[in-house]
Amino acid sequence: MSFSITVLGSSAAVPTKKRWLSSQVLACEQSLFLIDCGEGAQYRMQQFDIKRHRIQHIFISHLHGDHFFGLVGLLNSLNLNQREVSMHIYAPEPLKNYLEHTFLLSETRLFYPLIFHDLQPIENQLIFENESMTVHSLPLIHSIPTFGFIFREKQKKRNIRHDFVETFHPDFDTIKNIKNGADFVTNDGKIIQNQLITTSSGQPHSYAYFADTQINLNYQPFLSNIDILYHEATFSDAETDLAEQRGHSTARQAATLAKAAHVKKLLLGHISSRFIDDESILEQEAQSIFPDSELVEDGRIYHTANLYSPLNKK
Ligand SMILES: [Zn+2]
Ligand SMILES: [Zn+2]
Repeated sequence: MSFSITVLGSSAAVPTKKRWLSSQVLACEQSLFLIDCGEGAQYRMQQFDIKRHRIQHIFISHLHGDHFFGLVGLLNSLNLNQREVSMHIYAPEPLKNYLEHTFLLSETRLFYPLIFHDLQPIENQLIFENESMTVHSLPLIHSIPTFGFIFREKQKKRNIRHDFVETFHPDFDTIKNIKNGADFVTNDGKIIQNQLITTSSGQPHSYAYFADTQINLNYQPFLSNIDILYHEATFSDAETDLAEQRGHSTARQAATLAKAAHVKKLLLGHISSRFIDDESILEQEAQSIFPDSELVEDGRIYHTANLYSPLNKK
């Protein structure tokens, strides 16, 4: 299992031709998770072939318009498509009020349940869990309450070696016990240690989404073993003071956190339209600190699995 992240939008504040507003879809097995829902997100889903009806969980980082003004339209389209399956929304508490008022004013009656989960200013809070993964939230530093999200695959059980199965023909219960860590006892009472008859299922994959936020190196422990960190990079070095005043980060600051936390890859997003003619300065400044930094592109899919491919190992 791995995570695949399709970037629907990566512009800060206002959309540009190339970059629409903040929104991403994380795919994990058959599930789709929407992270932020800037204006136009549902059009981008059509363009990039994302099946919106498969989304069951939406994570909204904060209530600045560039991160959630696409939500009403998306929820309305799902209603018109006769959705009946519940939609879970993880967001700052006032969003519930906003949506209820909007649907009341527009006389929209949803035919599927909207289930709200208010985000709390608690570090590393578990907000979602299923059999294969978890999502934690943590408060970021911005001009209004804002949250980062950390998606982690659960450690899978060990794989049983084929040569062991061919030699000993274990029954179903024995296989189950071995996958759960048990040693194997042969008919003549010999104990074979679990590690000799199983192989690792690999390191669990992970993804972190931090936007919008001022830099805070104290986040570093929450990012341990993160494969891909998506971090806002609204400003360049020349505007470091402005970044701090506005509760944003520079590309270099994002790279400093990525380096300190030893993530595998840094994706720079929330790019200001002020860089429309030349965004490369942001990438250069980040790469001078953390070489595996990259400006995201709308429509591109980023796979955590690529970081584990032998071709990508450095
Ligand atoms: Zn923003
Ligand atoms: Zn913001």
